[in-house]
Amino acid sequence: MTAFICTACGTQYPPSDAPPDACLICTDERQFVPASGQSWTTLERLRSAHSNKFRRLAAGLTTIETTPAFGIGQRAILARTPAGNVLWDCVALIDDATVDLLKGLGVVVGIAISHPHYYTTMVGVEPRARGSADPPACG
Ligand SMILES: [Zn+2]
Repeated sequence: MTAFICTACGTQYPPSDAPPDACLICTDERQFVPASGQSWTTLERLRSAHSNKFRRLAAGLTTIETTPAFGIGQRAILARTPAGNVLWDCVALIDDATVDLLKGLGVVVGIAISHPHYYTTMVGVEPRARGSADPPACG
C-alpha cells in the first residue's frame, strides 16, 4: 500500500492500493484541480527529485523549503524556544537530512498548521525526529 501525495497541493493520504479518486483539498471550492487534472506522487518519488533547503530566518527561526518547489510551494518554519521547538506549517518532503536537522535542533513539542495544505507528510513522520512513536500536539 502507498500513501499517495497530491502533486497540486502536497497533501498526503492514508495508504491505499490505488490513488484516491480526488483530492479533498483541491476539490474544495476554495482551491482548484489543475487544468491538467488530478495527479499523484509518492514520498519515494518526491525524494528522488526534490530536496529541502534550510535557511536561518532570524535568531531561533529556521525555514524549511522544498526545492524545486512542490505543491503550492509550502514552507515550514521551525521556531526554537526554551520550552521546546514548534513547527509552523509543514512540507510534503520528509527525508533523512530533514529528520537529522530537526533532531539536531532539539525536541519538537508541537506543530501549528495554518491551512489544510500544510497538513502533509511531516505530521505523520515527524515523531521520528523526536525519537517517539507519538504524534506531537497539533493545532
Ligand atoms: Zn490536492
